Amino acid sequence: METTVVAVWGKVLEDIRKEVGETRYNLWFKNTVAISSRDNVIEVGTPSAFLAEWLETHYMRVMARIASAHAGRAVSIRFVVDGNLFRGQRKQEEQAKRELLEEVAPADDVRLEAERYSLSNFIVGPCNSIAYAAAQKVVEQPGTAYNPLFLHGGVGLGKTHLLVGISNEVHRKYKRDVVEYVSAEGFTNRFLFALRNGALDAFRARYRNARLLVIDDVHFLANKPATQDEFLNTFNSLSRGGCQIVLASDSHPKLIGKLKESLVNRFVSGMVAKLDKPDYRTRVEIVKCKAELKRVALPQEVIEFVARHAQGSVREIEGAVNTLAAFASLSRMPVDARIAAEALKGLVESGQRPVSLPDIEAVVATYSGLTEGELRSRRRTQAVSQARHLAMYLARNLGSFSYSEIGAYFGRRNHSSVVSAVEKVTRQVGTDHDLARAVAALRSEFGL
Ligand code: ADP
Ligand code: MG
Repeated sequence: METTVVAVWGKVLEDIRKEVGETRYNLWFKNTVAISSRDNVIEVGTPSAFLAEWLETHYMRVMARIASAHAGRAVSIRFVVDGNLFRGQRKQEEQAKRELLEEVAPADDVRLEAERYSLSNFIVGPCNSIAYAAAQKVVEQPGTAYNPLFLHGGVGLGKTHLLVGISNEVHRKYKRDVVEYVSAEGFTNRFLFALRNGALDAFRARYRNARLLVIDDVHFLANKPATQDEFLNTFNSLSRGGCQIVLASDSHPKLIGKLKESLVNRFVSGMVAKLDKPDYRTRVEIVKCKAELKRVALPQEVIEFVARHAQGSVREIEGAVNTLAAFASLSRMPVDARIAAEALKGLVESGQRPVSLPDIEAVVATYSGLTEGELRSRRRTQAVSQARHLAMYLARNLGSFSYSEIGAYFGRRNHSSVVSAVEKVTRQVGTDHDLARAVAALRSEFGL
């Protein structure tokens, strides 16, 4: 008779849950067990002394009442701390923290993009053949030849595509090994969240067993010294364990502003490969490939038309093909040269310039360790103003934009302030060697 309360403890807990409600139950009772019952005293194990005390002062009477009802006689309760429960609860807490991390910064699910961003869908030309060959090598022998592999190049030239392609291939090959693809932003958010919530161990454990760690848009780490330190640590411990690391950024590591020297050195210690804008023949192949994926039939002259005019990035080519596909499905007519010219009028008009203002903005922001929006904002701190002046200078010299176009784009500045900014930078370039070198490097980012 004595042991029945222990045997039916589940039912006792069930009644307690009804009485105190779900939240309190999960907080205080979920991890308790009835250990023994002797002389009308039931011994209840709890994971910690704190919990035992809390239950004793707050819920002793409720528990005794409900337990007595189940026992059919008056029983009292005594709490004891149970080490196993403690460890179990620790595990649960760790798990909960890990899940929380997952919620705040979910792993970018690259597998969904597997078809679109596969290595076999990647069109290879002179502009990207080295990066592609390096990607293949990494898939063949992760963690050996090119470690780390650092890809850089302008926006929309295929870095993310290659990164996701590599992740998927390695995942397919080493099924049970951990393959992580994460943006530098996701990495940073997760790290900061872990830091704030005392879950750094869970954060580190997540990466400790990886076969491949892929981090996209590394320029996001600029200006974030604490994350850079953590990154360097993670990086070093992973590469000691033979993990392959692949990184991508808009700029060469040395051109990412405010990146610690130790990190830059690490980034360039393996293989650095640049992606350039595709030449005409490669563009033709890309148009064909994208049209096929979109299941839109394009005659050869339309393919060539797109390849001639979409000279910026692969993303631009893709945008043009998507526009044509939309036209075709709306009009239910095959796309001919006339329709293509009409549909892509904007593209043809904007194609006159070698660089666009958003391109300049992106490169200068990366170089200065700023976010893109800051250059267009009204902020006038010295760092932002300087970067903005540099961007204006480049817009004037590389893109031949008018002063008013430049002023309108970079935060609605008036004509004369743009003129004086451009003049100032022109003077500085003549005397400041570092600046001159930076301008030359930025110029080469645009292939000019
Ligand atoms: P990035 O990360 O360099 O900014 P993405 O990888 O996102 O650029 O590429 C932009 C788009 O162009 C993607 O949809 C991608 O599939 C496509 N793309 C880029 N390069 C190629 C290529 N060589 N072959 C096929 N598609 C490409
Ligand atoms: Mg990208």
